Amino acid sequence: MKILITGGAGFIGSHLAEYLLDQNHEVIVVDNLSTGSIENIAHLTEYDNFEFYEGSILNYKLMLRLVTSCECIYHLAAAVGVKYVVEHPLDSLIVNVRGTEIVLDLANVFRKKVFLASSSEVYGKNGTRPFQENDDRILGSIAVSRWGYSCSKAFDEFLAAAYYKSSKLDVVIGRLFNVCGPKQKGIYGMVIPRFIQQALNNQPITVYGEGTQIRSFTYITDAITAIEKLMSDSQAKGEVFNIGSPESISIMELAEKIKELCQSDSEIITVPYEEVYEGDFEDMLYRLPDISKLKAVTGFNPEVSLEEMLKKITKEYTE
Ligand code: UDP
Repeated sequence: MKILITGGAGFIGSHLAEYLLDQNHEVIVVDNLSTGSIENIAHLTEYDNFEFYEGSILNYKLMLRLVTSCECIYHLAAAVGVKYVVEHPLDSLIVNVRGTEIVLDLANVFRKKVFLASSSEVYGKNGTRPFQENDDRILGSIAVSRWGYSCSKAFDEFLAAAYYKSSKLDVVIGRLFNVCGPKQKGIYGMVIPRFIQQALNNQPITVYGEGTQIRSFTYITDAITAIEKLMSDSQAKGEVFNIGSPESISIMELAEKIKELCQSDSEIITVPYEEVYEGDFEDMLYRLPDISKLKAVTGFNPEVSLEEMLKKITKEYTE
Protein backbone atom coordinates (compact mmCIF):
# COMPACT_ATOMS: atom_id res chain seq x y z
CA MET A 1 0.00 0.00 0.00
CA LYS A 2 1.17 3.57 -0.62
CA ILE A 3 1.06 5.44 2.67
CA LEU A 4 1.49 9.14 3.44
CA ILE A 5 2.87 10.09 6.87
CA THR A 6 2.61 13.77 7.75
CA GLY A 7 5.22 14.65 10.33
CA GLY A 8 7.12 11.53 9.32
CA ALA A 9 10.54 12.95 10.21
CA GLY A 10 9.50 13.41 13.82
CA PHE A 11 10.11 11.00 16.65
CA ILE A 12 6.94 8.92 16.29
CA GLY A 13 6.58 9.44 12.53
CA SER A 14 10.07 8.20 11.70
CA HIS A 15 9.63 5.02 13.76
CA LEU A 16 6.24 4.45 12.11
CA ALA A 17 7.75 5.01 8.64
CA GLU A 18 10.43 2.39 9.32
CA TYR A 19 7.86 -0.07 10.62
CA LEU A 20 5.64 0.37 7.53
CA LEU A 21 8.61 0.11 5.15
CA ASP A 22 9.57 -3.15 6.86
CA GLN A 23 6.04 -4.36 6.14
CA ASN A 24 6.82 -3.70 2.44
CA HIS A 25 4.58 -0.66 2.11
CA GLU A 26 5.52 2.37 0.06
CA VAL A 27 5.97 5.33 2.37
CA ILE A 28 5.84 9.03 1.56
CA VAL A 29 6.92 11.37 4.34
CA VAL A 30 6.10 15.06 4.40
CA ASP A 31 7.70 17.14 7.15
CA ASN A 32 8.74 20.78 7.47
CA LEU A 33 11.57 19.78 9.84
CA SER A 34 10.41 22.24 12.51
CA THR A 35 10.80 19.65 15.26
CA GLY A 36 11.50 16.61 13.09
CA SER A 37 14.93 16.10 11.54
CA ILE A 38 16.71 14.62 8.55
CA GLU A 39 18.77 12.57 10.99
CA ASN A 40 15.62 10.70 12.05
CA ILE A 41 14.96 9.52 8.50
CA ALA A 42 18.46 9.36 6.98
CA HIS A 43 18.56 5.55 7.29
CA LEU A 44 15.19 5.24 5.50
CA THR A 45 16.65 6.46 2.21
CA GLU A 46 18.09 2.95 1.85
CA TYR A 47 14.60 1.65 1.17
CA ASP A 48 13.50 1.83 -2.49
CA ASN A 49 9.91 2.48 -1.41
CA PHE A 50 10.66 5.62 0.57
CA GLU A 51 10.07 9.21 -0.54
CA PHE A 52 10.62 12.38 1.48
CA TYR A 53 9.16 15.82 0.82
CA GLU A 54 10.40 18.72 2.88
CA GLY A 55 7.38 20.96 3.15
CA SER A 56 4.51 22.08 5.29
CA ILE A 57 1.06 20.57 5.58
CA LEU A 58 -0.09 24.18 5.18
CA ASN A 59 1.10 24.02 1.55
CA TYR A 60 -2.18 23.08 -0.11
CA LYS A 61 -0.71 22.35 -3.54
CA LEU A 62 1.90 20.01 -2.13
CA MET A 63 -0.68 18.26 0.04
CA LEU A 64 -3.06 17.92 -2.91
CA ARG A 65 -0.33 16.14 -4.85
CA LEU A 66 0.64 13.86 -1.96
CA VAL A 67 -2.88 12.97 -0.83
CA THR A 68 -3.96 12.08 -4.37
CA SER A 69 -0.94 9.84 -4.80
CA CYS A 70 -1.42 7.78 -1.60
CA GLU A 71 -3.95 5.24 -0.39
CA CYS A 72 -4.07 6.17 3.26
CA ILE A 73 -2.72 8.84 5.62
CA TYR A 74 -1.19 8.85 9.09
CA HIS A 75 -1.59 12.45 10.15
CA LEU A 76 1.08 13.07 12.77
CA ALA A 77 2.27 16.54 11.79
CA ALA A 78 1.63 18.85 14.73
CA ALA A 79 3.41 21.04 17.19
CA VAL A 80 4.92 18.79 19.87
CA GLY A 81 6.42 19.16 23.32
CA VAL A 82 5.05 21.32 26.10
CA LYS A 83 8.11 23.57 25.99
CA TYR A 84 7.86 24.05 22.20
CA VAL A 85 4.13 24.70 22.32
CA VAL A 86 4.38 27.25 25.12
CA GLU A 87 7.22 29.05 23.33
CA HIS A 88 5.55 28.97 19.87
CA PRO A 89 1.84 29.44 20.53
CA LEU A 90 0.91 30.93 17.14
CA ASP A 91 2.74 28.39 14.96
CA SER A 92 1.37 25.57 17.11
CA LEU A 93 -2.24 26.66 16.75
CA ILE A 94 -1.96 27.33 13.02
CA VAL A 95 -0.35 24.01 12.17
CA ASN A 96 -2.74 22.05 14.38
CA VAL A 97 -5.89 23.79 13.18
CA ARG A 98 -5.30 24.94 9.60
CA GLY A 99 -2.95 22.08 8.78
CA THR A 100 -5.39 19.42 9.98
CA GLU A 101 -8.24 21.16 8.11
CA ILE A 102 -6.24 20.82 4.88
CA VAL A 103 -5.34 17.17 5.51
CA LEU A 104 -8.88 16.12 6.46
CA ASP A 105 -10.50 18.12 3.68
CA LEU A 106 -8.29 16.48 1.04
CA ALA A 107 -8.70 13.05 2.62
CA ASN A 108 -12.46 13.53 2.45
CA VAL A 109 -12.52 14.73 -1.16
CA PHE A 110 -10.28 11.89 -2.34
CA ARG A 111 -11.72 9.30 0.08
CA LYS A 112 -8.47 8.32 1.83
CA LYS A 113 -8.43 6.57 5.17
CA VAL A 114 -6.85 8.63 7.98
CA PHE A 115 -5.26 8.00 11.37
CA LEU A 116 -5.41 11.25 13.34
CA ALA A 117 -2.79 11.53 16.07
CA SER A 118 -4.32 13.39 18.98
CA SER A 119 -3.01 13.90 22.47
CA SER A 120 -3.81 13.23 26.10
CA GLU A 121 -3.50 17.03 26.43
CA VAL A 122 -7.15 17.21 25.33
CA TYR A 123 -8.24 16.06 28.81
CA GLY A 124 -6.67 19.12 30.39
CA LYS A 125 -6.35 19.16 34.15
CA ASN A 126 -9.24 16.88 34.93
CA GLY A 127 -7.42 14.37 37.06
CA THR A 128 -9.00 12.05 39.55
CA ARG A 129 -8.85 8.66 37.85
CA PRO A 130 -7.60 7.16 34.59
CA PHE A 131 -9.16 9.06 31.69
CA GLN A 132 -11.87 7.43 29.66
CA GLU A 133 -12.43 8.70 26.15
CA ASN A 134 -15.74 10.41 26.96
CA ASP A 135 -14.61 12.05 30.19
CA ASP A 136 -15.07 15.78 30.67
CA ARG A 137 -12.26 18.02 29.57
CA ILE A 138 -11.26 20.58 32.19
CA LEU A 139 -9.18 23.51 31.00
CA GLY A 140 -7.88 26.68 32.58
CA SER A 141 -7.65 30.30 31.50
CA ILE A 142 -6.92 31.37 27.92
CA ALA A 143 -3.87 33.19 29.32
CA VAL A 144 -2.18 29.79 29.57
CA SER A 145 -0.88 28.71 26.13
CA ARG A 146 -1.01 25.05 27.06
CA TRP A 147 -4.81 25.12 27.06
CA GLY A 148 -4.76 26.63 23.56
CA TYR A 149 -2.79 23.60 22.42
CA SER A 150 -5.28 21.33 24.15
CA CYS A 151 -8.12 23.12 22.35
CA SER A 152 -6.39 22.85 18.99
CA LYS A 153 -6.03 19.08 19.34
CA ALA A 154 -9.65 18.84 20.51
CA PHE A 155 -10.68 20.88 17.46
CA ASP A 156 -8.85 18.34 15.25
CA GLU A 157 -10.84 15.57 16.89
CA PHE A 158 -14.15 17.42 16.48
CA LEU A 159 -13.37 18.00 12.82
CA ALA A 160 -12.47 14.36 12.19
CA ALA A 161 -15.59 13.17 14.01
CA ALA A 162 -17.72 15.61 11.99
CA TYR A 163 -16.23 14.36 8.69
CA TYR A 164 -17.04 10.84 9.79
CA LYS A 165 -20.62 11.75 10.74
CA SER A 166 -21.42 13.95 7.76
CA SER A 167 -19.60 12.21 4.96
CA LYS A 168 -18.47 8.85 6.34
CA LEU A 169 -14.77 9.72 6.08
CA ASP A 170 -12.86 6.62 7.18
CA VAL A 171 -10.97 8.09 10.13
CA VAL A 172 -9.76 6.87 13.52
CA ILE A 173 -8.42 9.04 16.32
CA GLY A 174 -5.69 8.00 18.77
CA ARG A 175 -4.95 10.03 21.92
CA LEU A 176 -1.31 9.38 22.68
CA PHE A 177 -0.09 9.36 26.29
CA ASN A 178 3.58 10.36 26.78
CA VAL A 179 5.15 8.23 24.07
CA CYS A 180 8.89 7.74 24.54
CA GLY A 181 11.74 5.87 22.91
CA PRO A 182 15.00 6.22 21.03
CA LYS A 183 15.42 9.41 18.97
CA GLN A 184 13.12 11.45 21.19
CA LYS A 185 14.70 14.82 21.90
CA GLY A 186 14.78 16.49 25.31
CA ILE A 187 15.00 20.01 23.88
CA TYR A 188 11.23 20.28 23.41
CA GLY A 189 10.67 19.44 27.07
CA MET A 190 10.12 15.66 27.13
CA VAL A 191 11.05 14.40 30.53
CA ILE A 192 12.62 10.97 29.90
CA PRO A 193 15.36 12.00 27.44
CA ARG A 194 16.06 15.04 29.61
CA PHE A 195 16.47 13.07 32.82
CA ILE A 196 18.57 10.35 31.16
CA GLN A 197 20.95 12.87 29.59
CA GLN A 198 21.23 14.80 32.85
CA ALA A 199 21.92 11.59 34.78
CA LEU A 200 24.51 10.30 32.32
CA ASN A 201 26.32 13.64 32.37
CA ASN A 202 26.17 13.82 36.18
CA GLN A 203 24.28 17.11 35.88
CA PRO A 204 21.43 18.01 38.25
CA ILE A 205 18.21 16.15 37.38
CA THR A 206 15.61 18.91 37.12
CA VAL A 207 12.25 17.93 38.58
CA TYR A 208 9.71 20.67 37.83
CA GLY A 209 7.34 21.64 40.61
CA GLU A 210 7.22 19.25 43.55
CA GLY A 211 7.62 16.10 41.47
CA THR A 212 4.33 14.70 42.76
CA GLN A 213 2.75 14.89 39.29
CA ILE A 214 1.83 11.43 37.96
CA ARG A 215 2.41 10.20 34.42
CA SER A 216 2.39 6.96 32.49
CA PHE A 217 4.70 6.35 29.55
CA THR A 218 4.10 4.44 26.34
CA TYR A 219 7.02 2.83 24.55
CA ILE A 220 7.23 3.69 20.85
CA THR A 221 6.82 0.08 19.64
CA ASP A 222 3.64 -0.29 21.69
CA ALA A 223 2.30 3.00 20.34
CA ILE A 224 2.92 1.81 16.77
CA THR A 225 1.27 -1.55 17.43
CA ALA A 226 -1.81 0.24 18.77
CA ILE A 227 -1.93 2.66 15.81
CA GLU A 228 -1.63 -0.23 13.34
CA LYS A 229 -4.33 -2.24 15.09
CA LEU A 230 -6.66 0.75 14.98
CA MET A 231 -6.00 1.38 11.30
CA SER A 232 -6.74 -2.21 10.37
CA ASP A 233 -9.89 -2.65 12.46
CA SER A 234 -13.17 -1.60 10.84
CA GLN A 235 -14.86 -1.39 14.27
CA ALA A 236 -12.52 1.48 15.17
CA LYS A 237 -13.82 3.70 12.37
CA GLY A 238 -15.05 7.13 13.52
CA GLU A 239 -14.01 6.43 17.10
CA VAL A 240 -11.48 7.91 19.52
CA PHE A 241 -9.10 5.73 21.58
CA ASN A 242 -6.60 6.32 24.35
CA ILE A 243 -3.20 4.87 23.46
CA GLY A 244 -1.03 4.33 26.49
CA SER A 245 -0.04 2.17 29.38
CA PRO A 246 -1.70 1.99 32.80
CA GLU A 247 1.65 1.74 34.67
CA SER A 248 2.10 5.00 36.55
CA ILE A 249 4.90 6.85 38.32
CA SER A 250 5.46 10.25 39.93
CA ILE A 251 8.07 12.48 38.30
CA MET A 252 10.19 12.47 41.47
CA GLU A 253 10.18 8.65 41.48
CA LEU A 254 11.06 8.72 37.80
CA ALA A 255 14.07 10.92 38.54
CA GLU A 256 15.19 8.53 41.29
CA LYS A 257 14.73 5.48 39.07
CA ILE A 258 16.71 7.03 36.21
CA LYS A 259 19.48 8.16 38.56
CA GLU A 260 19.81 4.62 39.89
CA LEU A 261 19.64 3.00 36.46
CA CYS A 262 22.38 5.29 35.11
CA GLN A 263 24.46 4.81 38.28
CA SER A 264 24.68 8.58 38.34
CA ASP A 265 26.04 10.96 40.95
CA SER A 266 23.55 13.63 39.84
CA GLU A 267 21.73 15.62 42.46
CA ILE A 268 17.94 15.63 42.05
CA ILE A 269 16.71 19.22 42.33
CA THR A 270 13.23 20.71 42.24
CA VAL A 271 12.76 23.70 39.96
CA PRO A 272 9.71 25.98 40.31
CA TYR A 273 7.63 26.11 37.10
CA GLU A 274 8.06 29.93 37.00
CA GLU A 275 11.78 29.41 36.42
CA VAL A 276 11.17 27.13 33.44
CA TYR A 277 8.19 28.64 31.65
CA GLU A 278 7.57 32.29 30.97
CA GLY A 279 4.25 33.71 32.07
CA ASP A 280 1.37 31.61 33.27
CA PHE A 281 1.86 27.88 33.20
CA GLU A 282 -0.13 25.00 34.56
CA ASP A 283 0.89 21.37 34.78
CA MET A 284 -1.39 18.35 34.96
CA LEU A 285 -0.97 16.72 38.34
CA TYR A 286 -2.35 13.42 37.18
CA ARG A 287 -2.51 11.88 33.76
CA LEU A 288 -3.21 8.20 33.15
CA PRO A 289 -5.11 6.44 30.39
CA ASP A 290 -7.92 3.96 30.74
CA ILE A 291 -7.20 1.70 27.78
CA SER A 292 -10.13 -0.68 28.16
CA LYS A 293 -11.78 0.61 24.96
CA LEU A 294 -8.60 0.03 22.93
CA LYS A 295 -8.21 -3.43 24.48
CA ALA A 296 -11.82 -4.39 23.85
CA VAL A 297 -11.78 -3.38 20.18
CA THR A 298 -8.27 -4.40 19.13
CA GLY A 299 -6.97 -6.77 21.82
CA PHE A 300 -4.02 -4.41 22.37
CA ASN A 301 -1.94 -4.81 25.50
CA PRO A 302 1.22 -2.75 26.10
CA GLU A 303 4.24 -5.03 26.20
CA VAL A 304 7.10 -2.83 27.36
CA SER A 305 7.27 -1.99 31.07
CA LEU A 306 8.60 1.35 32.32
CA GLU A 307 11.75 -0.36 33.61
CA GLU A 308 12.40 -1.93 30.19
CA MET A 309 11.77 1.29 28.27
CA LEU A 310 14.16 3.25 30.47
CA LYS A 311 16.82 0.59 29.93
CA LYS A 312 16.30 0.60 26.16
CA ILE A 313 16.48 4.39 25.94
CA THR A 314 19.53 4.61 28.20
CA LYS A 315 21.27 2.07 25.98
CA GLU A 316 20.84 4.43 23.01
CA TYR A 317 22.91 7.08 24.81
CA THR A 318 25.60 4.76 26.12
CA GLU A 319 26.36 2.64 23.05
N1 UDP B 1 9.33 17.55 33.71
C1 UDP B 1 10.29 17.71 34.70
N2 UDP B 1 11.56 18.04 34.32
C2 UDP B 1 11.95 18.18 33.03
C3 UDP B 1 10.96 18.00 32.02
C4 UDP B 1 9.67 17.70 32.39
O1 UDP B 1 10.00 17.58 35.90
O2 UDP B 1 13.13 18.46 32.78
C5 UDP B 1 7.96 17.20 34.12
C6 UDP B 1 6.85 18.03 33.50
O3 UDP B 1 6.63 19.22 34.24
C7 UDP B 1 5.67 17.09 33.55
C8 UDP B 1 6.31 15.71 33.39
O4 UDP B 1 7.71 15.88 33.70
O5 UDP B 1 5.03 17.15 34.78
C9 UDP B 1 6.21 15.17 31.98
O6 UDP B 1 6.68 16.16 31.10
P1 UDP B 1 6.68 16.02 29.53
O7 UDP B 1 6.99 17.38 28.97
O8 UDP B 1 7.57 14.89 29.12
O9 UDP B 1 5.21 15.60 29.14
P2 UDP B 1 3.76 16.18 29.59
O10 UDP B 1 3.17 15.07 30.38
O11 UDP B 1 3.95 17.42 30.40
O12 UDP B 1 3.07 16.42 28.30
